[in-house]
This record gives sequence, structure tokens and C-alpha cells, in this order.
Amino acid sequence: MEIVIARESGFCYGVKRALHLARETRRQENSTVYTWGELIHNPTVIQELEKEGIIPTENIDNLKEKTVVIRSHGVSPEIYNLLEKKAKKVIDATCPIVKKIQKLTSRLAQQNLELIIVGNPNHPEIKALLGTSGGRAVIIDKESQAQALPFSRRRAVLAQSTQDRELFSRIVALLVDKTQELRVYNTICRSTQIRQQSTSELASRVDVLFIIGGISSSNTNKLYEISKRIQPRTYFIEKAEQIRPEMLLGVKKIGISGGASTPPEAIQEAVAKIKNICQESGYEEITVQCPR
Ligand code: SF4
Repeated sequence: MEIVIARESGFCYGVKRALHLARETRRQENSTVYTWGELIHNPTVIQELEKEGIIPTENIDNLKEKTVVIRSHGVSPEIYNLLEKKAKKVIDATCPIVKKIQKLTSRLAQQNLELIIVGNPNHPEIKALLGTSGGRAVIIDKESQAQALPFSRRRAVLAQSTQDRELFSRIVALLVDKTQELRVYNTICRSTQIRQQSTSELASRVDVLFIIGGISSSNTNKLYEISKRIQPRTYFIEKAEQIRPEMLLGVKKIGISGGASTPPEAIQEAVAKIKNICQESGYEEITVQCPR
């Protein structure tokens, strides 16, 4: 029996940085610190942070005389100004890669062209980007929405940092036919691209694949969709105890991948649970291949 863990499983650089900044701020302040919304989309981590005195809020009245940390997804300029006015201190943990996309969006919004962002309209990163575009960007996340767009003389298109690369490519291909001059900015971050690629490669060479992460995490959902297209036996698992013996029936090679907000412990717990089930089923030799 073999367990293979995908490359880039677990916390990305931006999430690690935001967690470090929030904890460091809590240590220095020595009192409750707020985050504007949940710092990351993982309920286990959010519960741990709450115990440490790092509390999510989107109620501006909670912030009087308090320090607030902006999460890796960033916020719109309106929210940023509001936080600066109301809170004692603002710690900006927006991922530097997301910051660059915000600057690009703001620059493009001032030009004479239509701006398309391929992303989830309910995701905080996209809400922030809509804000940096001054409300000018058109947000789409389906091919049918691209098909419905009218012909345009000048367009620019970019993506949410965690967008599915294949979907982005398909939407770009549709826009080529509807635009005289199309500028394409591939703003999907490198960590996301490696994560998606390693998950799809793994999906094609294992008998079952577990995607570990928070159910509300957009990038983890994307990994699930990517894997499911290739490997029908793909399971979205929030906690290791959800892995059941029947999911492993008849398998020899098991894959594990995790989203950008999945803590390393969650991956280790999944490995331990699988080993446990396999040992109970009589497998004596179980190897675990970790990413290099
Ligand atoms: S997925 Fe990429 S852009 Fe998004 S927070 Fe992580 S490192 Fe930054």
C-alpha cells in the first residue's frame, strides 16, 4: 500500500505570512487582536486562533481602540480607509502577490478598456479587486458568462490568484473571438499553479485521492474539481475522521492533496487515519511518499 502526498499541499506563502503577522501582533499587543473576516478558510485553524485571542469580525464597532489584521486576500480601498479611521492600528497582511494584482487592477481600470476578472464574486479577494477597480471590473466565473458578453474593441482579462488554470484558459479563448484587442494577464499565483498541476498529475496515477481542507476554501474546492475530472474516486475531506474504510476498498495507491489554507497537521492526521484503516484491514507494509 502506498500513500503519495502532492507537492505544495498545505499552507501557501501568503497564508503562512498572514498567520505569522497575526500571532506576532497578538504577542506584541498582549490583548485581543481582530482580523477583518476569517484570517483563512479553515474552521480548525480559526478555532485555534480564537483560543489565542485572535478573533474574526466584520463589525466595525468592535474595532474601537483595537488592532485589526487584514487577511491575505486583502480588502477594497473603502474598507481599508474605514479600518484606518476606526481601529487603533491596522496591520496589513495582504499577500504581496495579491497586492500586485490589486495595483494592476487599479491601473487597468483607469484605461480606456473593459476589464474582466475571472473569479468567484463572493470571494473576499474578488470583492477587494472590484473595489480597487473602482467598481469598473466585470466579474465572471463561468464560460457561459464569457459567451454572453458582447463584442468589444478593447478588453483586459485577469484571474483570481487561486483560479483554475484550465477554466481561465477556456474563458480567454472565448474572449479572443469577441474582442478586437485583448490583453491577457495570467495572475494565477505560482504556488496555485504548482498545486493544481501536482494534484492533477497525482489524480491520474492513484486509485483514490483525498483533498483535505476547509469546505469554504475556494482554492481547495478548485483542487477537488480538478481531481474529480480525472479521478472519479476523489473525496473532499475537512477532517481525518471523515475518511471511512469503504473509501479505500480495493485501492493500492492513495493520493493526498491540500489547499492553501490546509494546515500541515491536517495532512498528517489524514495519513495517520489511512494508515490506521489499512493496518486494521491487514496491510503490513505501508509507504508514504512526501513531496520533494
Ligand atoms: S494562493 Fe498565492 S496569491 Fe493567494 S495568498 Fe497564497 S501565495 Fe498569495
